[in-house]
Amino acid sequence: MKKRLIFTREEMLELNIKTLRERGVEIAEIAQIAFEQQSKYTPGVTIGLCIDSVERVLTFRDVFHQVQFAAEVDRLTEEKAFRFPIQDILHDDLGLFGIDETLGIDLAGFYGVIGVTNFGDIDVNKRGVVARLNEEGKKDGIVHTFLDDVVGAIAAVASTRIAQVMNEEIANENTDYSKPDIYDFIK
Ligand code: MG
Repeated sequence: MKKRLIFTREEMLELNIKTLRERGVEIAEIAQIAFEQQSKYTPGVTIGLCIDSVERVLTFRDVFHQVQFAAEVDRLTEEKAFRFPIQDILHDDLGLFGIDETLGIDLAGFYGVIGVTNFGDIDVNKRGVVARLNEEGKKDGIVHTFLDDVVGAIAAVASTRIAQVMNEEIANENTDYSKPDIYDFIK
């Protein structure tokens, strides 16, 4: 295969959806966590809006790298491609390992620090698909050590993004403030 490093946002979204699906996760499941979390705080949130938000988050380059990296580490661990001692630590998802959570926390802060709090809630309370991944990962030969954190973090980011975008819309309704172009890019 021809060497390639840089992808368009549409390609990154497509590759992320494909990779997540290969690892057993659908966009709708991630969106469901974002919906359950954000609908408590922001009226008018719909599951459709959450799906859009997850898809938007999956177009970002940092997120692309994290999803691809996390999925590949888990897959290689299932194939026993690592050596002692990291192979066993990854396979058994050692609680004190922490690099998976570090990756999740880094990703979760994409739309501001509140995303890290949202990630903590999903991580500790094992919401939705995160609970399923966690349970599946306890079986011999199935590894979701990195994926559960990345999926939880994407849900947290998608949820936080909705709060940020809705607040910006409220600000725009109430003032004659005009949005700089950079915000369109970040959104
Ligand atoms: Mg983990």
